Amino acid sequence: VQPELSGDFATLMEWADGVRRLKVRANAETPEDCRVAREFGAEGVGLCRTEHMFFESSRITNVRQMILATDEKGRREALAKLLPEQRKDFTEILEVMAGLPVTIRLLDPPLHEFLPTEEADFADVATAAGVSVDVLKRRAAELHEFNPMLGHRGCRLGVTYPEIYEIQARAIFEAACDVADKTGAAPIPEVMIPLVATARELDLMKAVVDAAAKAVFAEKGRTLDYLVGTMIELPRAALRAGDIAEGAEFFSFGTNDLTQTTLGVSRDDAARFLGVYVDKGIYAKDPFVSIDVDGVGELIQIAADRGRATRPDIKLGICGEHGGDPASIAFCETIGLDYVSASPYRVPIARLAAAQAALEKK
Ligand code: PEP
Ligand code: MG
Repeated sequence: VQPELSGDFATLMEWADGVRRLKVRANAETPEDCRVAREFGAEGVGLCRTEHMFFESSRITNVRQMILATDEKGRREALAKLLPEQRKDFTEILEVMAGLPVTIRLLDPPLHEFLPTEEADFADVATAAGVSVDVLKRRAAELHEFNPMLGHRGCRLGVTYPEIYEIQARAIFEAACDVADKTGAAPIPEVMIPLVATARELDLMKAVVDAAAKAVFAEKGRTLDYLVGTMIELPRAALRAGDIAEGAEFFSFGTNDLTQTTLGVSRDDAARFLGVYVDKGIYAKDPFVSIDVDGVGELIQIAADRGRATRPDIKLGICGEHGGDPASIAFCETIGLDYVSASPYRVPIARLAAAQAALEKK
């Protein structure tokens, strides 16, 4: 069903928009998500996750070939097959968003989710890669992690295998140039590096992105504006936001991981005891729903202050689930973030909550 805002509700939303200061974006990773988000009034995409694109059934074999390759040459062979598909993904999204800002996050997988387990899947990868099933199984065993959420994910993947981020960045810039040529409305992609903990990680990944942009612009005979920034989703990143901001034109607070790593509570298993914790008053609310203002919130405040001290015009947003939670949106208003990003169906609530927060602040 195509959502639509009409009548009194549309009028109310217009009033809200006249009052709010915070921009409202959406977390969207398909053209359909983007259409829904725009229908609901999103002013951009605050988080386009690319992991699910890699799970598409038509390309999972090539993704597995890439992950299981033992050298750069093998990874590049698989990436060459994935590039046209990624370009198409980004072209469609940038077209729907028609010049609105789109933050595309480079790959942040829990690596184990890509590893084959079925014999038939190993056989498919063996055929695609031209290696034996035994070699692939040995490699898959080497890649096993005991704690994938604290493992080889986010920019750690980009640092160890820069060619993955290089090809994703290339796909983004090729798509952006094609959309600019086709529609005349130049997209301004915002390339986001996940799970950064140190300035050096960001510097290395920014160099990969900038080199891809330079190469694509030379090939296409044109240039485009773009931003490079980072997720702030680890306590160390929040504390070192002053140095990290040297290389980041924006920060987006990943409050799902920031909550997990600050509280030391698995985001996937918290439900087992959080209800009791809330009942006993240990947490006032579920910290994965509403920002734990005293802990996670203080880290966000520190990061915002230190980031702005280095780069006064740094763009600041939030893209964790909290971006659609009214109490968290009020917190974002208090500390002066530029935007919140919520799932498409929460965009109207976020617009209202942002307006209410602005009124309360006056
Ligand atoms: C986050 O950690 O808050 C975030 C937005 O990233 P993801 O949920 O994809 O880890
Ligand atoms: Mg995260």
